[in-house]
Order: sequence, then C-alpha cells, then structure tokens
Amino acid sequence: MKRQTRIIRTQTQKTGFREHSTPLFLTSSFTFESAEQGKALFDETEQGNLYSRFSNPTVQEFVDRVCVMEGYEDGVATATGMAAVFAGFAAYLSSGDHIVSSRALFGSAHQIITQILVKWGITYTYVEASASKQEWEAAIRPNTKMIYLETPSNPGLELVDLEMIGSLSKKHGLIFNVDNCFATPALQNPVDYGADLVVHSATKFMEGQGRVLGGILVGSREMIKPARFFCRQTGPSMSPFNAWVLTKSLETLDLRMERHCRNALKLAQALEANELVGKVNYPFLQSHPQYELATSQMRAGGGILTVELDGGFERISAFMKALQIVSLSSNLGDTRTIITNPYTTTHAKLTPEDKRSLGITEGLIRVSVGLEDVDDLIEDFTNAIEVSASVTAK
Ligand SMILES: *Cc1c(COP(=O)(O)O)cnc(C)c1O
Repeated sequence: MKRQTRIIRTQTQKTGFREHSTPLFLTSSFTFESAEQGKALFDETEQGNLYSRFSNPTVQEFVDRVCVMEGYEDGVATATGMAAVFAGFAAYLSSGDHIVSSRALFGSAHQIITQILVKWGITYTYVEASASKQEWEAAIRPNTKMIYLETPSNPGLELVDLEMIGSLSKKHGLIFNVDNCFATPALQNPVDYGADLVVHSATKFMEGQGRVLGGILVGSREMIKPARFFCRQTGPSMSPFNAWVLTKSLETLDLRMERHCRNALKLAQALEANELVGKVNYPFLQSHPQYELATSQMRAGGGILTVELDGGFERISAFMKALQIVSLSSNLGDTRTIITNPYTTTHAKLTPEDKRSLGITEGLIRVSVGLEDVDDLIEDFTNAIEVSASVTAK
C-alpha cells in the first residue's frame, strides 16, 4: 500500500463492538485475567497493555501512524513537544557528553540545552544553521554524542543541510536528532538522510486545529529503547484523549499541508511585492538565502513565513489592531491564520544578543498561514499594513 493509504488504514484492532472510527481507550490501567497473566505481562514474556503511563491502544495508534509517516519502526508519545525534545536528550546523554547543535532553535530547546543539561555536565557547541560542512565538523569533539537541529527553524526559517549532517553523523558515529515540527513528515523525512531520531511537537501542524498538546519521538526499534525506558519511568506520557484527537488529525495532515503551503507561498509573494513591507522570509521564495537547499530537501515551503515591519513596537501594535481576520496567538499550525511578534512573546526570554543572532528583530512578525481563502488573507494583511504605516508616519 502507498503512504497515504497506510496512514489512514493503520488503526487499532477493532473491538467486539465493530466500531468504524477508532475508539478512545480512556483508562488508566488494564486488567489481568489471572495472577499468571499479571506476572507474564510484567516480566514481558507476554506483550500487552498494563498501565497508560507506558502503553495505551489509542496512544499506540498515534505512534504507529507517525512511524508510517516518518519511516521508522517505533516511537514514544509524550504530553507535549518539549517532553519529547527533553526525552531525546535525557535518554541518550550522560554527564561528560557533548552536543553539537544548530543555534537556530525553538526557545525552550535552547533553554534546555543552555540552562538544564549543563547542570548535569552535558556541554554543547552551537553552530550557525547555514554553516559549511567544515564549520560543523570543527565543532565535533571526542566526547560529542549527538547532533541536534531544527529545519526550518522557528521563527527564523533557517535551514540545515540534512544530507551534510547525515554524512557527518555517520562518519563520527553520532546520534543524529532532528526536530521536524515545522516541515512535518508531509514535506520532509529526515530518515532519508540517516537521522536516528525525529522529534515532533504534535501540537502544531500534526494537530492542525489548535485543540490539544502532544509530542513524539520516533526512530528504529533499537534506537527507541532508551527513550521508552526513560518515559516509562519518568512519566511524561501522552493522554489517551489527546492521542485520540491527534491520530484523527494525522489522516488529513498531507492534505492540509498542501493547502497551508499553497496559501503561504501566495501570501509570501503578495507581501514581498508590497513596498510598505520589509524583508519577507519563506523557504520557497527565490529571495530566501537557502532557496536551493529548501527546494532540494523539502517537498513544499511549509506553512510559516515571517515579515518585517519598521516603526518599532508602535507599528506592530497598530498592525495587529488593524487586522480583521487573523488571530493573535503564540501557537502555530492551525486552520486559522495566526501571527505573533517573537521579540516580545515566544522569544522574549532570549538575551538581546541571542535575538540578534537569530534574526529576531523588534519588527519581526511570524505568520502561521491557515486554511482560509488566501485572497481574504492577502486583503487583511495589505489593509493592516497600510493602516499601520499611516499611523506610525504621523
Ligand atoms: C512548539 C514547538 C516545540 C514545543 O512543542 P510543545 O508542544 O509546545 O511543547 C518544539 N519545537 C518546535 C520547532 C516548536 O515549534
């Protein structure tokens, strides 16, 4: 069967009720038919569900579907994307290990690396996303254990060459760990470049409608073992309810991403042509500094773009006030278009130098392009850009 058919047809085994849609197994535990079965399940001579901290059929369906989408055998689902990112570090790294990471990271991933892991003697070296192979390789030390990156990055939309990192990881025997949240498995599969682990915030495009949080870490069966142990013992588990929402969302991920990408490209082109707008950043615009790489490793440009408006916070405020349709929120990957000003919200806690090095300027606006009619979006943006320009010009 082809990919889309497998995604849709990967489903929890039917119960005696012959339900068509997947049931929600909202139960904390599972019963043993006998003392012998309880013993067998715990010593793992028999496989089966025990307790929803570490296994649940609804959660498993979500995991199985993401495995189909990302091309891996196994995974662990977590309550949030950050729990999966953290498990991807904590389960594999020990005191004395070193991580080479792209500097262009989601704010909380940056905080984990620079504030939490260092407390346990795990050190790091940041490399610019667009650095050359030589520069990436120069950051690798004898105690380097993992290369971690996000591509495209949030919110700078910087790309890392997956093929290049894959070959470096292989050469140096490193764990290659990719946050694939922005591209989603619909647009890019790090497994094709030798990634050992792929992590997702399922909260974003996977969920797609802004209802629940979730995360997942996938890899080969062998690779996932330490993460399964870590999650089983420490308990960052995904709720079965969230898994039930998320697994249904996955059936339409490819379809939704097609429209997110088409709308985003059209909006990016319209904004780029608007002379009242500063820089527009979108991986599939020819003006993107890594356009060649984007078109070679992504099937489309994704649902996120950024624009810069001059005039400081006053302009941002006037622009946001003038929008009629677009929502103001820090989430992304929703059917509804959302904007945020990373400088004062999602990335506010970064130092001014860190903000600068990631291109997070005061006037930067991150746009998560939704599934509305793109003509309405273009009109809403164009109008708010004009209104806010005249307000700040006074
Ligand atoms: C949102 C996000 C996360 C964190 O996910 P949560 O579900 O909010 O915990 C991690 N990485 C990227 C790229 C994100 O956008």
